[in-house]
Amino acid sequence: MFLTHLECTSCGLRHDAATLQNLCRECQKPLFPTYDFTAVGRVVTRESFATREKSLWRFREVLPLPADVEPITLGEGGTPLLQARRFGESVGVSQLFLKDESQNPTQSFKARGMAVAVSMAKHLGATRLAVPTAGNAGGALAAYAARAGLEAYIFMPSDTPRANMIECRELGAQVTLIDGLITDCGAEIAKRKTAEGWFDMSTLKEPYRVEGKKTLGYELAEQLGWELPDVVLYPTGGGTGLIGMWKAFNEMETLGWIGSQRPRMFSVQASGCAPIVRAFEAASETAAEFPDAHTVASGLRVPKAIGDFLMLRILRKSGGGAITVNDAEMIRITREVGAAEGLFVAPEGAACFAALKTLLSNGSISRDERVVIFNTGSGIKYLDCYAQ
Ligand SMILES: *Cc1c(COP(=O)(O)O)cnc(C)c1O
Ligand SMILES: [Zn+2]
Repeated sequence: MFLTHLECTSCGLRHDAATLQNLCRECQKPLFPTYDFTAVGRVVTRESFATREKSLWRFREVLPLPADVEPITLGEGGTPLLQARRFGESVGVSQLFLKDESQNPTQSFKARGMAVAVSMAKHLGATRLAVPTAGNAGGALAAYAARAGLEAYIFMPSDTPRANMIECRELGAQVTLIDGLITDCGAEIAKRKTAEGWFDMSTLKEPYRVEGKKTLGYELAEQLGWELPDVVLYPTGGGTGLIGMWKAFNEMETLGWIGSQRPRMFSVQASGCAPIVRAFEAASETAAEFPDAHTVASGLRVPKAIGDFLMLRILRKSGGGAITVNDAEMIRITREVGAAEGLFVAPEGAACFAALKTLLSNGSISRDERVVIFNTGSGIKYLDCYAQ
C-alpha cells in the first residue's frame, strides 16, 4: 500500500490515514489521500495496466485500500470512451468523445466513489453508513453497503426521482425522505450521526469517494494513449469528479505518465441551480448557497458544495469556465443525442451537449479541438421527466 497520510486541502494539516474520519480537525475542510509516488513509480508503469482487469481496481497502486484487503466491488469503472461521431458532425466537431458512465453498476458514476469509500469504511471499522443524496449516490451506497454487509441510511429530498427511492429500498437500505434539499438531508445526518453511530459518507466530507472518482482521470489518459483532451465538459453538483480528475492529472504528472498540459475544464450546471457558475462569473473564491434550487437533473441540484473553492480554482487554473443550461433544453437535446449516438443519456449528461453548442457559438471552444463529455448517468432513472 502506498497511501501515506491524509492532507487538508485548505490548511495542509496532516491526518492519520489509518483512522476513520471525515473533515480536517482544524478547519473542517476536505481531506485528500496522499501517496508515496516514488514507490508507486517503482512498481508500475503506464504499460502495466494493459493486461489488467477492466474495473477501476486496475489502478490499485494509486487507490487507498491496502493490497491484501479485498475490495467491495460490483465491477465499477472501465467504462468506454466512445467517439460521438454523428452528434459531433452535426455541430462541426470532429473529435468529440463521450465517456459513458451509465455503464457503471447502479447506472451512474457514483458507483466509482462509493466502491472505494465503502471498501475503506468497512476496512476502518464502520458498520452503519449514512448519506445525503440528490439521487444516484443513494443507490450506489445502498448497493455497496449491501455487498459489504453494512447498514445504509439514506436521506433524500421527497421529490427525488422515484427510480432512486425504489432502488435504494430494494437494495435493503433505510430510506428517509426529507421535505427539502440535499443540504437539508446533510444537516439531518449531521444532527443525528453521533447518537446513531453513523459514519457520514457525504461527498468530500469523507476522504475516499474522491479517490474512486479520480479514476475517471486515469482512464481518460489511458484511453487517449496517455494524452489528455483539450476540453472537458463536466456536469457539476458536489464536484467530486471534477476535483478527482484534476487530482489524477497531477498524480500522473508526478509519476511522469503525462506532461504538464491540462484540459480546459468546464462546469456545466442547471440554470435553476448554478452556484459555481455564479461564483465563477463573480470572480469569487467560494460559492454562496444558491437560493430556491430546482432542476430535473437531480445530480446537479446541489445548492452548496463543500468543495466549491477547489472547483473554482481548477476552472480558473485550467483556463476553462462555467455555464448553465435550462431544463427544457436538457430534455429536448436528450433525443438529439439519443438518435445520433444510441445512448439514452441522463439529463446531467444531456446538459453538456447543450453547453457544447453554446461554447462553440461563443468561441470558447473551437471546432478542431478534442472534447470529452461525461455522461454521468442513465436516462432510464429519470422517466418522469420524459412523460410526453
Ligand atoms: C452526482 C451526479 C452528478 C454530479 O456529480 P458531482 O461529482 O457531485 O459534481 C452529475 N450527474 C449525475 C447523473 C449524478 O448522479
Ligand atoms: Zn485544514
